[in-house]
Amino acid sequence: MKRIFKSSVSILLTLILAFSVVIIPSAETAEIVDGKCTCGEEPEIYVAALGSATLYLNAGAEDEKVIFRPETSAYIELIAKLIGPLFSLVLTKDYDAFADKLIPAVNGVFGALANDEEGNSTPEVTTKEELPTDPTHGLEGNYYFGYDFRADPLVTADKFNEYVNHVLELTGHDQVRLRASSMGGVVTMSYLYKYGTEKVKSVILQCCPIQGTAVAGDLFNGRIMITEDSVYRYAQTALPSLLDGVTAKFVLGLVDVVYKSGFLGSVLDMVQPILDNCAPRVFDELLVPVFKSNCGIWSFVPDEYYESAKEFMLGENPNAVLEARIDEYHYNVQSKAGEILNGVLDSGVPVMIVAGTAIQRTPLVPTWQNDSDGTVDTKYASVGGTIAELGTTLGENYVQAVDDGHNHISPDNRIDASTCVLPDNTWFVTPMLHSTTHDGHGELYRWFFDNDDTGVNVFSNPDYPQFLENDIAGQKLVPQK
Ligand SMILES: [Zn+2]
Repeated sequence: MKRIFKSSVSILLTLILAFSVVIIPSAETAEIVDGKCTCGEEPEIYVAALGSATLYLNAGAEDEKVIFRPETSAYIELIAKLIGPLFSLVLTKDYDAFADKLIPAVNGVFGALANDEEGNSTPEVTTKEELPTDPTHGLEGNYYFGYDFRADPLVTADKFNEYVNHVLELTGHDQVRLRASSMGGVVTMSYLYKYGTEKVKSVILQCCPIQGTAVAGDLFNGRIMITEDSVYRYAQTALPSLLDGVTAKFVLGLVDVVYKSGFLGSVLDMVQPILDNCAPRVFDELLVPVFKSNCGIWSFVPDEYYESAKEFMLGENPNAVLEARIDEYHYNVQSKAGEILNGVLDSGVPVMIVAGTAIQRTPLVPTWQNDSDGTVDTKYASVGGTIAELGTTLGENYVQAVDDGHNHISPDNRIDASTCVLPDNTWFVTPMLHSTTHDGHGELYRWFFDNDDTGVNVFSNPDYPQFLENDIAGQKLVPQK
């Protein structure tokens, strides 16, 4: 019996091995012929978001320190430093004394992020990003491009160009697929502006501040505002994407009590005078010096805020080199996003723009009613969509702004995509928290890349029309009804 069993196992093993010899090569048809890969799947590069590369102070030295993102211990230390001053503030109402403690404490955590006057990193702050060495590629695995978010996007585009060339060489392909998330879109747009589409098979731009984000516009104009409704709505709309179903329900219940009992209001009543009294000094002594030459953050400032932001942040005698480089991104990339993106499509490269909607934006600025994914306003990520304020519709009598022979108004009457620069290539996901994805997004992107030999758009597949609902629990994107 034992012997029979053994021999049948060995026959089975032999059979498996025999088949493997046949199956394995056909599953991995990646063969290099004359330096070119024959697998038929262009490698995908994920152009990651802000914070994609860790920033080190004095890398390699004994006192090496991570400065972005700061480690949890840095925040704990910061809170510990501020508890005493906060208590004193409650007792004395001496806001200046509080600012005297607050500003150096926060500066200790973020101060080293400041670039030099011309917008270059100081030599002590570096990343440890390296070029990839693994040639394995295909739609299931992808290459990851990380970068210093403070850098001039047009300089990062040069580094990205080297990265693209390296991946092409490594894999034996002539083109790459690009999937950009959030700030990755700024890098991708800069790359397309400088280097064109020759080496690009197709492009996905997910939740990208292609035309900026109002929170950067407001803050770079010195505007801060916090309201009870925005904080409450932020919890209501963002938490379901951040927590699992049961926890979210529990926390939302608590938030409801905190809001409806008026407790949130009383807390904010205490915060407001701190903002009113400390904000001017916090801007002057902290935010302006740390961020004024951060070219990356400048790329987030939308056009309608840009020139006044320069006055506020740079003053009367701006550094000419810094101004020239932020102007180049602003006026030649952000302001020409429509031209660049239409050029990409016209060159035969499929584009998918994905904009998130129906999440309360950062509850910190006057533009808190803009519909957004929580970080990027839907109108800026969709590059020109006409979007009703959060919680409202376009109105009963609304008529599509541009008649291009298609319907571009969302079933919930909140979005008119006809004003987008690429009305047929822009998808909206409701609700979608900034760059927060699940398998459903993965399937959408897979479908797009699988079909990027043909010009896919919002009319190509009834499963993926322009307006999608996000079934977060079911991890699916389904057509909005
Ligand atoms: Zn290949």
